[in-house]
Amino acid sequence: MTLERIAPGIDRWVMAEASMSAVVVADAGEALVVDPGTLPERAAELRAAVEARGDRVVAVAITHAHWDHCFALSAFEGVPMLAHPVAVDELREHGEAQRQAVLGFARPATAEGVRALRIVLPDVAVPERRALRVGGLEVVLEPLGPAHTGGDLVVHVPSAGASIVGDLVETADDPQADDSTDVAGWIAALDALAAGAQPLLVPGHGDPCGHERLAHHRALLGG
Ligand SMILES: [Zn+2]
Ligand SMILES: [Zn+2]
Repeated sequence: MTLERIAPGIDRWVMAEASMSAVVVADAGEALVVDPGTLPERAAELRAAVEARGDRVVAVAITHAHWDHCFALSAFEGVPMLAHPVAVDELREHGEAQRQAVLGFARPATAEGVRALRIVLPDVAVPERRALRVGGLEVVLEPLGPAHTGGDLVVHVPSAGASIVGDLVETADDPQADDSTDVAGWIAALDALAAGAQPLLVPGHGDPCGHERLAHHRALLGG
């Protein structure tokens, strides 16, 4: 596995688990990791690769509280971890139930790691839009939802013309819903992205895409 450049200052690392894209935003020796993935040992590999090229991880953000995006957080202990406040609540309340569900379908090697990992809660809630500096880059965090889950967080990188959107947008598959999904809220979030997101959307699963995917999801969700 390697870091794959998808926009200026932005790389992704497609995890073996759920083909989830961990995203690294970096500039001038600093890095923000968005969605570290499922297994802490794999996230530690990602962290080592980022550090080996000279970037210190200054923050980690999760786009939402689904296991494939956030179970690996313990690999970044000591680094500020940002999330929508509702995502923190969801992980606290449903993290163990998610672990049990994953154990029911995971391959043996993955199950072993999922059974052993410690679920870590993000320690920095992002209740409203805020900016963050990564090196010389301005990154904007925008909480949305309830939508795909009770609390989704979008990471905009204006200088790269890219927005990291988690599972609000998928290109590997159609949009995925579960008990925490709010369809009306999701449609509103898609409209917010259509109005305010950068041209390149970086989804949690699948290749980056443009805004045409927003209309596709809106139609499927009945908007
Ligand atoms: Zn996902
Ligand atoms: Zn999800």
